[in-house]
Amino acid sequence: AADVCEPLSVLGADVRVPLVTGGEVTYAALDYAASAPALQRVWDDIAAYAPYYGSVHRGAGYLSQLSTDLFENSRADVAAFLGCREDDQVVFTRSTTDSLNLLAAVLPSGTEVFVFETEHHASLLPWEQREDVRVRYLSAPRSPRQAVETLERALAERTGGPALVCVTGASNVTGELWPVRELAAAAHAHGARIVLDAAQLAPHHPVDIAAEDVDWVAFSGHKLYAPFGAGVLAGRADWLREARPYLAGGGASRKVARREDGGVDVEWHTTAARHEAGSPNVIGVYAIASACKALTEAGFDGLVARERQLIAAVREGLAEVPEVRVLSLFGEDAPRVGVLSFVVDGWNSSHFAAALSAEYGIGVRDGLFCAHPLVRTLLGSEPEEPGECGAPEAAPGERSLNAIRVSFGAGTPDEHVDRFVRAVK
Ligand code: PMP
Repeated sequence: AADVCEPLSVLGADVRVPLVTGGEVTYAALDYAASAPALQRVWDDIAAYAPYYGSVHRGAGYLSQLSTDLFENSRADVAAFLGCREDDQVVFTRSTTDSLNLLAAVLPSGTEVFVFETEHHASLLPWEQREDVRVRYLSAPRSPRQAVETLERALAERTGGPALVCVTGASNVTGELWPVRELAAAAHAHGARIVLDAAQLAPHHPVDIAAEDVDWVAFSGHKLYAPFGAGVLAGRADWLREARPYLAGGGASRKVARREDGGVDVEWHTTAARHEAGSPNVIGVYAIASACKALTEAGFDGLVARERQLIAAVREGLAEVPEVRVLSLFGEDAPRVGVLSFVVDGWNSSHFAAALSAEYGIGVRDGLFCAHPLVRTLLGSEPEEPGECGAPEAAPGERSLNAIRVSFGAGTPDEHVDRFVRAVK
C-alpha cells in the first residue's frame, strides 16, 4: 500500500491479537520508539545469509572468510550511511547504551562532560561511572535556541582540558528534534567534542556525521528496523585508539606474551577491533548494515513526509479531546519525528495504555521512558518512586505520574493511527 512507504515494508503487519471484549484484531504496533519491527528486506537478507554463517576473524574455512568479509563490509555500509569521515572508526556494540558506555570508558582522564538533564538515561548516566571525569548537568531548555545558549554559557566556564558534550538528536519522549548542528558548532568553538545519541534520530531522519560536524554518533539496530543485539558507535578514532580496550580478550589483542617477571605483555589492536573482543554478533551487524542500505536506497524524504502526515493526524485527533495534554519541551509546533507523548486528565496512564492494548489491540508505551528528569519536568510533578524505567502508579482519577507514548514509522498504515485516535476519543 502506498501509505506504508514501500519499499520499506516491515514484518508483523498481519499479526492478530485477542481482545478482552472477544474476537481479535490486527495488532497496531505504535511503539516504534522502544523497538521498531524489522524490515522485510532485512529479514530476507538474514535468511539468505543464515546457512552460510561462520565465525568472524577466526576460521580458515570458506564460510568463516565469507562471514569476515560480510562483517567488515557491514562496517563500510554503516560508515556510508552515517557519512563518516575517512579516519572515523565504526565500532560494533550491543546497543546505544553499550556505545555510550564504551565512549565513557575511553574518555581521557579529567574530561569534563556536559549533558542536559533531559537526556535518556543511556546518555545521562554512563559518564558518572568514571570517577576521574566531571559531569556538568545542564537544566532543561524550553527552546532549541535556549539549548544552545545554555550550552554556550556552561562551556564558557570550562576549566580547560578535554571536554565532551552529549546530546540527543530526537527525544524519545517528545520526539522533538534538537539543534544538533548548532550545539556541535558551540562545542567546537569552545574546544569541546560532541557525541550524538541518534537512537531516535537515525530511524526517522538522515544522520550525517561530517555535515552535522559531530565527533561520534551512537544508535541501536532494534530501533532502526533490524533485530536486537547490535548497535554502533562511530566517530573520531583518536580517543578510541588511545584508551584501554572496553572489553579485554581475544580479537582485541594482536600479540600477547608472558614476561620474564611473570606478567603478560599485550599489544592491542588500534582499529575498531580494540573494543570488540570476543566473537561478534555477525547476524546483528549484518542486519544493521542491511537496514542502513534499505533506508539509504529508499531515501528519507518519503519516510519524513509520511511521519509528518501521521503526526499531524495524531495531533489533530488528540486536539479534539480536551482532557489530553501533549508533552513538549520546545512548544506545540516544534518539529518532531514520529514520536509523541501525552497525558489524559483524570486517567492513570498505565491503565489507559493497558486499555488501548486489551480493548483495541494497540501497543503503546506508558511510564517515564528511561528519562525520569525530563518526564518530571514535562509533567511538573515531584519525584516519585518509579520502578526501573517504568511507571509509578497513580490511582484511577488521580493526576498522572507518568505519560503515554505513541510512536511509528515505516510500515505504519493509516488504519493504526485512525484506530488509536478513535480509541483515545
Ligand atoms: N537513547 C535514546 C534517545 C533512546 O530512546 C534509547 C532507547 N529507548 C536509548 C538511548 C537506549 O537504547 P538501547 O536500549 O537500544 O541501548
